[in-house]
Amino acid sequence: MPELPDLEIIREVLAPRITGQTITDVEVVRPLVVRDLTGRGFAEALTGQTFADAQRRGKVLLFPLQSKLTLAINCKLAGRLQCAAPSDRRQSKTHVVLHLSDGHELRYSDQRTMGQIYLTADLAAIPGWTEMGPEPFGLTLEEFRRRLQPHQGEIKSALTHGFVVAGIGNAYADEICFAARIHPYRKSTALDGQEIERLYEATQSVLREAIATLRERVGTEIHREVRDFLAVHGKGGQPCPACSTIISEIKAQGRPTNFCRTCQPGGLMQF
Ligand SMILES: [Zn+2]
Repeated sequence: MPELPDLEIIREVLAPRITGQTITDVEVVRPLVVRDLTGRGFAEALTGQTFADAQRRGKVLLFPLQSKLTLAINCKLAGRLQCAAPSDRRQSKTHVVLHLSDGHELRYSDQRTMGQIYLTADLAAIPGWTEMGPEPFGLTLEEFRRRLQPHQGEIKSALTHGFVVAGIGNAYADEICFAARIHPYRKSTALDGQEIERLYEATQSVLREAIATLRERVGTEIHREVRDFLAVHGKGGQPCPACSTIISEIKAQGRPTNFCRTCQPGGLMQF
């Protein structure tokens, strides 16, 4: 699932490539991901529009157009974007292709068909938009603490569900918990002041460092997801980079949580 660091790189790469480009044709190969909130028809309303910028809010990529409309893409589990020449091979499960005035194509592919591409004049009409928490880099420790306070569940779910801070998913929540040395299944209400501060600092540092790494590793190949540099996520069964304990993996609803039992003590039975 693309998360904040992945999406930041996609945004950085796409902004100079598409800004000022006009969409000359819209190919909706598989309409399941398309959400037209204009009432005018997705392809009809989008054809002839010009990209004004590429932005990101939480896990949503935003492409404001020179009209009042915005193309908003939530990649969910497996959505990918690619800016390619028409002769470049299309990814399997390419759902939407936007033909640009410079001859390139902006493509959206999605192996799971769970993502959503909204076309709207009103971002608040996107489900979940108004409940989204603040961006991590402008967030103060006090605000982080205040937003965490009402959360009754486990710390990992507090990080991923987006109210405390936007943009974090399954992978980076594991990385942040590891960097903060906090077990992902501890209740957030059980964390003391120092632990909350560590979690806050880790949120900032993990995301910033991941953006810097991905900028080098991904380059312009934005349809690739690079995760091999992570410390614990996706590394179940391998030694912890800090203490060499074998990294644990617990799967819930098909989604793995990875952590080190030595570096991140506690858990379900111990608060
Ligand atoms: Zn460890």
